[in-house]
Amino acid sequence: MRAFVVKHVKPAFSLEKTVGDDEVVIEKDRFRQALRRVDESIALLMEKTDGRAEERGILEAQRYMLNDPDFISQVEDLIVSHHYNAPYALEEATGRVVQHLNQLGDYPKENIADIQDIAGRVMSAMTETRLTNLRKLDERSIIVADTILPSELMGLDPSLIGAICLDGGGSTSHVAILARAMNIPCVFALKDASSRVVTGSVVALDAFNGILYIDPDVRTVAAIRREKRLLDEEERLLKEDAVLPAITKDGVRIRLECNIEGPDHIDLCLKNGAEGVGLFRTEFLLMGGDKTYSEDEQAAIYSDMARRFNRRGSVTIRTYDVGGDKIIKDLAHDEDNPVLGWRAVRFCMDEKDIFRTQLRAILRASTAGRIRIMFPMISGADELDDVLSFFEEVKQECRAEGTAFDEEMEVGTMIEVPSAAIASDILSTRVNFFSVGTNDLTQYTIAVDRGNEKISYLYKEYHPAILRLLKLTSENAHRNGIGLSMCGEMAGNLSLIPLVIGLGYRQLSMSPACLLGARKLIRSMNYSDCKVLAKKALDMTSCRAMESLLEKFNAEIRDNQ
Ligand code: PEP
Ligand code: MG
Repeated sequence: MRAFVVKHVKPAFSLEKTVGDDEVVIEKDRFRQALRRVDESIALLMEKTDGRAEERGILEAQRYMLNDPDFISQVEDLIVSHHYNAPYALEEATGRVVQHLNQLGDYPKENIADIQDIAGRVMSAMTETRLTNLRKLDERSIIVADTILPSELMGLDPSLIGAICLDGGGSTSHVAILARAMNIPCVFALKDASSRVVTGSVVALDAFNGILYIDPDVRTVAAIRREKRLLDEEERLLKEDAVLPAITKDGVRIRLECNIEGPDHIDLCLKNGAEGVGLFRTEFLLMGGDKTYSEDEQAAIYSDMARRFNRRGSVTIRTYDVGGDKIIKDLAHDEDNPVLGWRAVRFCMDEKDIFRTQLRAILRASTAGRIRIMFPMISGADELDDVLSFFEEVKQECRAEGTAFDEEMEVGTMIEVPSAAIASDILSTRVNFFSVGTNDLTQYTIAVDRGNEKISYLYKEYHPAILRLLKLTSENAHRNGIGLSMCGEMAGNLSLIPLVIGLGYRQLSMSPACLLGARKLIRSMNYSDCKVLAKKALDMTSCRAMESLLEKFNAEIRDNQ
């Protein structure tokens, strides 16, 4: 297959003063987007002024300048008539305005400084925009990229993507999760692949071993095709077992559910025998396009999902977990530490209209089937209490207006922040279930960015500290008689599933692509052995020791299969 190379650039405007005909629209769009981002950040600051009139006045004036139609059309005219790129056009227009005001002589200097300040902010919002050539992908190719954001991937036609090869990244990054859900092979940490491959060259990917061949010879291509046929055949055989229950040899039933990112992924989940949706990452609805979803539209999506799974099990809807690498167009904001920042329920509790719309849609859909609701990134009881009381307020509104919903709907929280796991005894008295997000729990506990390949050697879900948190959470859930599931990637990792089950997790939610293998594995092992494994694992003092324990256990299972 041919390669399509993707490079992201943070353009330095002085290097590319003019653009081609086909880029004029993109440049205008880039300018408008930057205006919106700055406008939003000012609006946010205004909310935080607590009525201090002077501050508010300055911000209002800045907002006024930012939205001045004359100025906006000056910049856009320069883009259209001179083909200037957006930053250059902005600088040119600002220069002209400033020169004009200076010539007036009596125009206040501080107002001129304000104009320059605001133009500077738009400029930095603009030059931070990541630009890619992804829009030009028009034939089925293997994408070889420096990075890809989940939102960029969502905007592409999956039939054009043969595979994705990334210079960096990790298997629990959101782009990896999304690629798995779209059934697209994805390989990471190829270092400088995007610099070594050129668009249009012939490449072959051995996704199983993570090797990308540039200009492969005939024998290599034949070997990869052979391997692919074997894997397809193995999957076909596994599919025949998709209807069998996941039950261990000694009779313990494990529930296998799926994680989904959108309605398009339901078919694969049903085909692979998912017994429900353990995690619907609703924020993906907002990514990859300009669309926002109204209450009616969301209610329709959630209801349809609940109906399609109704005979099998429940659908667990996680409220928007925006932020981090899940960047939503128009809601993006600059932060020094986005992963630790204004995201998930923190964002939703500030943007109550967006949150209320989603909560109402979930409540309404709960009459269509078995729906559970869960909140992401909860860090402790105060945050959870605030979210629960807002949820109660929204329920009350629905009751008052006669909008029907399931009064018994289960409410849960994700356990993915270390403080939540440590305080899981406290949280367990407030919800009906926990769902453990090992992707973030690992990232935050070990302080290792889940998408950074340079430090991926530290990213280990079986780190002794993580196992202790998993055990603590499981014990607290069982002690208080609430539901417990795991929806992080660890739950679908075949070499870790026995350990997870041994730690008390009997409800696992995973990418649909992992379901078949997980079912086969569970049917071939004993629950009692998993308990022994978990007990031994908790005595291990290092990841290295844990690795040899797991290797030995998994080799025995393989031998007995
Ligand atoms: C997790 O953090 O483990 C999780 C399931 O949520 P996400 O991967 O969407 O952050
Ligand atoms: Mg998470």
